[in-house]
Parts: sequence; structure tokens; C-alpha cells
Amino acid sequence: MQDVLLVRYGEVFLKGANRPHFLKVLTDNIKRVVKPLGGHVWLSDSRVYVSQFTDLQACIDRVTKVFGVYSVSPAVEMEKDFEVIAEQCVKLMAGYSGTFKVFGKRSDKKFPMNSMEIAMEIGGRVLESNPNLKVDVHKPQHKLMVEIRDNAYICVDEIMAVGGMPSGTGGKAALLLSGGIDSPVAGYQMMKRGVRMCAIHFQSPPYTGELARDKVLQLAKKLAWYTGGMRVYMVPFTKCQLEIHEKCPEELGTLITRRFMMRIAERIARQFGAQALITGESLGQVASQTMEALGCTDAVVNMPVFRPLIGNDKTEIMAIAERIDTYETSILPYEDCCTVFTPRHPVTKPKLETMPKAEEKLDVEALVNACVEGTEMIIVEG
Ligand code: ATP
Ligand code: MG
Repeated sequence: MQDVLLVRYGEVFLKGANRPHFLKVLTDNIKRVVKPLGGHVWLSDSRVYVSQFTDLQACIDRVTKVFGVYSVSPAVEMEKDFEVIAEQCVKLMAGYSGTFKVFGKRSDKKFPMNSMEIAMEIGGRVLESNPNLKVDVHKPQHKLMVEIRDNAYICVDEIMAVGGMPSGTGGKAALLLSGGIDSPVAGYQMMKRGVRMCAIHFQSPPYTGELARDKVLQLAKKLAWYTGGMRVYMVPFTKCQLEIHEKCPEELGTLITRRFMMRIAERIARQFGAQALITGESLGQVASQTMEALGCTDAVVNMPVFRPLIGNDKTEIMAIAERIDTYETSILPYEDCCTVFTPRHPVTKPKLETMPKAEEKLDVEALVNACVEGTEMIIVEG
């Protein structure tokens, strides 16, 4: 007999022929997060189990944050002997009051009682032993699950997890990570769909300082937890920004800056093997995020740009940032390169045809090359 954590997965179910692959990745990801707790993880009969952990609560906290996990239940694993199972059910339910229902599930058809019989008999014994419980078959407060599989498992509490798809099953992308609130959330949302990513940060020393850089690394570390590590590319952006400031129309400054970020990010993304870019943009949030402006930014790249927050309000984004614990870091007050040269009256409806003329005094290739070549790569542990 042993305590285990029973792990249910969500959408992985839908994956048809690829299911074994998704389950293998999911199991490996769970192994990684429970390793510091000494947990043993295995996949059996379409369930993932964790045992031998040192701290149940810590194990629950970690496993419920693994993408692809739908819910978990602390459970007891034992031999398939009805008397043993009944005794453990009585023990498990001793501390509960209110209404309950037993759900029997016999996957092992050699077990002498069927699902219904298991539920009835266990229900009776629990009722007899605990006067604070009543049966409610329609809306029970507590669901006692008794499953007969390779072993017998019983559990009562179900704790919901993050859901999503296992990390590593959704392709590779590059996240444009500023020190703000939005971009870490955008990264998280894409990670939740199984995307592995690197982060690209544009810094403009001496206008942006060491503290701003540390802040970005701290944010990257929070995200890296979900994938076990992350590369952060630090792009030296000062020269590019100064040239844009000197040689381009002021009201298009932010937009042109963003076009350069995208060009440079695409080059780095391809080196990393990524198939897409991710930004934290949200429609209409600022002048550079109107539909026209986004069209001008996308026009310079040849890979999909994912903007998972495009339809979110700032308050919604902030709520996610709080939940994933990036908010406090994001609001630390250090300069971002974007805020350094903000025009007073940015254009909100730029025309794509006017862009080449606005950028004509710049040597685009040379500026992009210099930034890519000067980029420093830092590996952040998860
Ligand atoms: P955030 O959007 O993360 O809160 P922000 O609001 O300061 O930061 P915006 O001006 O809204 O940034 O920029 C839109 C998006 O452009 C960001 O979500 C991010 O993906 C990208 N971006 C902005 N500044 C940088 C930067 N210095 N390095 C990398 N990406 C950046
Ligand atoms: Mg923003």
C-alpha cells in the first residue's frame, strides 16, 4: 500500500495516433518537476501516477502547473482485495461530513465485483462507519472514487490543474520579451499550448540599465520553470534606435523601431529553429498596436506572428500576470528601450506604402546585421 498522486490529463486524449507521443512527453515533464521532491513517476493504463514524494502539497503545487495536466487527486494504491479496499475507504472518509457518492470503476474485468456492486457495498460501509455522511447520488459534495486497474486506487479530492498541451508538443517560437506586464503573459499563454520558446530582449544601454536587464532575466526565469530552461537573447539596440531617432520622421519612430525589432527577432528566431514570433500586443493598447500599425509591423517578417493577448483587456492580462506570479516583477520601474524615444504624437493609422520612404535614410541590412551579430545569449535555468 502506498500514497500516490493520481494525474488526469485533458486534451491529450484527443490526439489519436499521436497519443503515445503526447503521453510520453507529458510523463517526462512531470518527472522533471517532481525530481527535486524525489518523486517516482509512471504511466500505466492511461493514467500518470506519482509516488514516493517527500511532500504531498509541494508535489500537488508542482504537478498542477504542468501543461497538459487536467486535475490531480491524492490517492491510495493497494492490492485488489475487496476487504482491504473497503477498510481504506472507511479510513479515507473518516474526516468528511456532508453528502457523498461512491464511483466504482472496474477496468480489470477479472475482479469479482462489477462497478455497481463495488459502489454499493463501499457506500454502505462508509455510511455505517461515519454518521456525519449522507448519500446524494445527484449532487454529492464528495466523490469517492474506487478504481480497479493494475492495482486498486481510491481517492476523494480532485484538484484542478492548468490544462493545455504538454510542453514540447506545440513547436518552437521566439518571444519578444520586454520588461512589461504583457509579454511574459503572452509567452505563458503560448507555452500553455505546448510551445517551447526562447526569449529575445532589446536593450539600449546606457538608456536602459543593468536593473532592467536583471528584471528581464527574472521574468525569463519564471517562464523557464515550465520548460526546464530557456535561452534569452540580449540584443544591443542602442545604435539602431539612435539612427531611427535621427533619420526618420518623429511620429513614425515607435513604429519603425518595432519593424526593426521584428526583422532582428526573425533572424534570431530562425537561428534558434523557431517557426514563429510571439508578442504581447493587444489591439488598440497604444498607437503601435492599432490594426494599421500591426499591419506595418507584420509586413517586414516572413513567419507567423502570434499575439495571444490581442483580444484581452489590460485588466485581464494583469489578472493572469498575478496568477502566474510575474506581475510584481513586471511593475518594477525600470526603463524599457521603447519608452526612451517615444514620439509626442505617434501616428495611429500609418500607411504601409509610406514605410519605405520613412526608412530610406537607414541602411536596414547593416543595422539588422550589427544587432544580430552583437547579440549575447544567456541560458536561464528553470
Ligand atoms: P509589455 O507589453 O510586455 O507590457 P510594454 O507594454 O512596455 O511591455 P509595448 O510597448 O506594449 O511594451 O510593446 C509591445 C510588445 O513588443 C511587447 O509585448 C513585447 O512583445 C515587444 N517588446 C516591446 N519592448 C521590447 C523589448 N525591449 N524587448 C523585446 N520585446 C519588446
Ligand atoms: Mg504592452
